[in-house]
Amino acid sequence: MKKLIFVTGGVCSSLGKGIAASSIGALMEARGLSVRMVKIDPYLNVDAGTMSPYQHGEVYVTDDGAETDLDLGNYGRFTNSPLSRANSITTGQVYQAVINKEREGRFLGRTVQVIPHVTDEIKARILAVGKDPDVDITIIEVGGTVGDMESIPFLEAARQLLHEFGRQNAISIHVTLVPAVSGGELKTKPTQHAVKELQEVGIQPDALILRASGHLDEGMRRKIAGFTNVEFEGVISGYDVSHTIYQVPQIYHEQGLDSFILKKMNIESRHADLRPWKEVVRKVVEPKRHVRVGVVGKYMELTDSYKSVWEALYHGGIANDTGVEIIKIDSGRLEGELADIDGVLGTVDGILVPGGFGERGIEGMVRAARWAREHGKPYFGICLGMQIMVIEHARTVLGWAKAHSTEFDPDTACPVVGLLEDQVDVRNYGGTMRLGKSESVLKEGSLIREVYGAEHIWERHRHRYEFNNAYRADFEKSGLGISGLTPDGGLVESCEWPGHPWGLGVQFHPEFKSRPTQASPVFKGFIGACVIANGGKSVPGSAEARLGSTDPREAKAKAKAGEGHAHRA
Ligand code: GLN
Repeated sequence: MKKLIFVTGGVCSSLGKGIAASSIGALMEARGLSVRMVKIDPYLNVDAGTMSPYQHGEVYVTDDGAETDLDLGNYGRFTNSPLSRANSITTGQVYQAVINKEREGRFLGRTVQVIPHVTDEIKARILAVGKDPDVDITIIEVGGTVGDMESIPFLEAARQLLHEFGRQNAISIHVTLVPAVSGGELKTKPTQHAVKELQEVGIQPDALILRASGHLDEGMRRKIAGFTNVEFEGVISGYDVSHTIYQVPQIYHEQGLDSFILKKMNIESRHADLRPWKEVVRKVVEPKRHVRVGVVGKYMELTDSYKSVWEALYHGGIANDTGVEIIKIDSGRLEGELADIDGVLGTVDGILVPGGFGERGIEGMVRAARWAREHGKPYFGICLGMQIMVIEHARTVLGWAKAHSTEFDPDTACPVVGLLEDQVDVRNYGGTMRLGKSESVLKEGSLIREVYGAEHIWERHRHRYEFNNAYRADFEKSGLGISGLTPDGGLVESCEWPGHPWGLGVQFHPEFKSRPTQASPVFKGFIGACVIANGGKSVPGSAEARLGSTDPREAKAKAKAGEGHAHRA
């Protein structure tokens, strides 16, 4: 019999349900079970592809080219669950499917209703994810907060599945908040109400994860257990971690959450192997050295818009036993005549220009690339960051002052990056974007080949524009290394600076496949180069570095308040 775990949230949003669900997945895997992860997003968008990073954070891309919620990125970092379009369910998708069926006459004239037609569609989608015979547990995270109108059909589908599977095969875990009022006293009332709300839709939770900044003592947990009909062993204190989200699986394990889940679902107890997680945490907490990485882009003020990039940088650090301090640099600061480029970039050990869309900040990124090239600083360009390398080389080395991408200057006389006619056939993934996993072939003797230690690699894409092959020969003659190509040789997948300590741009997004226990090879190589650039002079244990925050201001504020890295993603 297959098992289901539903993870819901109460009181308010942003409690770190995604990290909770991912950590439960990691614990089940540590117990030797095979897990699949599903995210339900109750919004009407069919996918996250069209959503602004300002509203929604990063768009996470799966192998099959689905543009999904960033929680799937957490699943990918914490578990081995394969992730595809099927693992992300939105209200938009569900209604679109039901309405299409109705138009095709598949309901044979019956009245089409939320119950049972919409709920049946939801149930079918959830069960499809775990259908392979080797899957033991499907973990379904229901986005939003219980009590929101939007999530009602999903909670009804969950209720039905819990009933149909029986409570020894399907359980409910509710993540709630225990806030502190002035004076620091912790309040259980919001949690009591949140559980009542879940009970009102017919779901009795089996376990509670109580988010609070500090530990909840036994008395508090017993009180909550008593009010909510949840067994005491199932009431878990989900306190803020001191250093990294990768501590969360251990925190749950220490409180027996995995044993409790196995007991509830009659799964034969197996020894938990948490060694890989312990090693990850050790390297974050006590790294041998530190480096500072400057990330130059736009949306820098938004912590979530480059979620996978931040995490992959930390993974690169873990792989090098190095603490990574990320300095977010709004590329606008490098623009204009008075910009103090040396001042801004001079203190970092390496520069990363991540992906991005739209014209704002491009000139600052071009300056950052030039500065890195001319100063021998490690440079890592991702997607847009590779295109920036191409534009910079054309302008500075080839002297083509007008060189640009047609994305930013549609009428440029020198379109070194553009939309190419002959690419139309490789874009048939839908829309006009090149999306999802594809193969690159790496040139012998190149940096990228050394970094991956392989000739053929598969990474994920999400972009429209490409290196313009009309200029390929000029670039190569003038010293830009074209080191990765699609297997047919038609598209450029990576560029590098031969003779430079470490300068590499990739057209794909390696951050999506990076894991704390297995860093993306490019991020590992980049941080390795930053360590060399740093020359062993570790960043003196600054508050920022120790707290592992991605934002120095945030870290300083936290250091003052005496708290560490927040528990949420
Ligand atoms: N805007 C660029 C393109 O569409 C780069 C996209 C990206 O960095 N993801 O090609």
